[in-house]
Amino acid sequence: MSVILRLFGLIAVLAVCIDCASPIATAYAASPQKAESATRAQPFRAFVDRLWPIAQARGVSRETFSSAFAGLTPDQDVIDLTKKQSEFVKPIWEYLASAVSANRLERGSKLANVNSNTLDVIEQRFGVDREVVLGVWGMETNFGGFTGGKDIIRSLATLASVGYRGTYFRDELISALLILQQHHVVRADFKGSWAGAMGQTQFMPSSFQKFAVDFDGDGKKDIWTNVPDALASTANYLKQNGWQAGLPWGFEVTMPRGFDYHMHHASFDDWSRQGVRAADGHAMPRSGEANLFFPAGADGPAFLVTNNYDVIKRYNNSDAYALGVAMLGDRIYGASQLYGTWPVEDPILGLQQRIELQQALTSLGYDVGEPNGRIGSRTRGAIRDFQDKRGLRPDGYAGRRVLEALRVR
Ligand code: CA
Repeated sequence: MSVILRLFGLIAVLAVCIDCASPIATAYAASPQKAESATRAQPFRAFVDRLWPIAQARGVSRETFSSAFAGLTPDQDVIDLTKKQSEFVKPIWEYLASAVSANRLERGSKLANVNSNTLDVIEQRFGVDREVVLGVWGMETNFGGFTGGKDIIRSLATLASVGYRGTYFRDELISALLILQQHHVVRADFKGSWAGAMGQTQFMPSSFQKFAVDFDGDGKKDIWTNVPDALASTANYLKQNGWQAGLPWGFEVTMPRGFDYHMHHASFDDWSRQGVRAADGHAMPRSGEANLFFPAGADGPAFLVTNNYDVIKRYNNSDAYALGVAMLGDRIYGASQLYGTWPVEDPILGLQQRIELQQALTSLGYDVGEPNGRIGSRTRGAIRDFQDKRGLRPDGYAGRRVLEALRVR
C-alpha cells in the first residue's frame, strides 16, 4: 500500500522521538566520522540478533535468515526519509491534476488495451471493476513505471531497528523474510519503496501474505514483474476488504436549487427524489446507498460515494488518493472531466491550521479522533455538526470559514 502517504500523518509526531531515542541517530551524532559506520552497525547487529528467535517462532528458517542479513548494514537514507515532513498541503485539485495527467491517461489507456483479456478474467473472478484496478496501478507506480529501488529487507530492518512505529516494521520484516523463503522473488530483485511497499501495486509484505495471487499459475506470486499477478492481487485485496460487485465507487453529481444540506447519507432513490443528478446525465443506480461528499466544500464538485469508495481508502486512507484512483480509472475508459469547478481562489488550510481546527473541535466536545491534520470522515462529521449549530451550510469542509468561526467562538 502507499504506506508512505499514510505515514506522513505520523511522521510529524514521530520525528521528534526518532531524533532523541534512536540508537542509530544517537550513535551517529556522538561518534567521530571515521568510526561512524562501525558504530551505527553495532545497534543494528544487536537488533538482528534479537530478531532471530522472534523470526524463528514465526517459521523463518536459519538459512533464510542468515542469507537475508548477510553483509547487511542500516540505510541512513531511510532514516532521513522518516524525518521529511512538508508543512505544505497540496490542494486537492492540484493533487488530482497530477494524478490524472495527460501522460498518465495515455499510458493507462495503452496498458488497458494490452491487458484487456486479463482484466476481463479479473472482473469475472473478483467482481472488482477494471477501472479501479487500473486506477490503483496508475496511482501507485504509474502503471509499473516506478516500483521503488530500495532493498526491502534493508529498509524494513533499518526502520525496525530504531523502533519506528513500534513493532509494525519488525512484523513487516518477518513477513518479508517469509516471502523470500517461499521463493516468490529472488533476494536481488526484492525491491520496493523506502517504507517497504513492494511491486507494481505497492503491497506491504503483510498484505502480500494475505492478498497476493498467483494469477498465471507459475507457482510464484510475482507482483514485481508479472502484471497479471499484480493486478489480480490488487483486485483480491479490494474484494477481501469488502468490495461489492456491481456497485459503483460513486460519481459526480449536480445539486438542485434549495437543497437541504443536512442530508448526508441516503439511498440512490432518495437522492434522486431530492433532485440530485449524476453530472454526466446517466441514470442513478437502481439500488444501493451513498454519502454526499464535497471534497472542497459545497461550492466545488459534489460526489455521491458508496461503500466501495471506502474500500479504495483501505488501500490508502486519503480522500485525495481515493478520488485519484476513481477518476483516473474512469477517465481511462472515456469519462469526461469534472463538471463542477474547484474553488481555486480560496486558500486552503495548511497542516498546522488543520490541527488547530481539530483541536478547537475537540475542545468543544466533538469527536475528531487524534488531531493530526488529516481530515477524515470523523472530522468532517464534527465539522458538519458545528456548521449546523452555527447556522453555516453543513458541507463538512475543513476550510477557512469554519476555522474562522471556531476561532471566534
Ligand atoms: Ca505467477
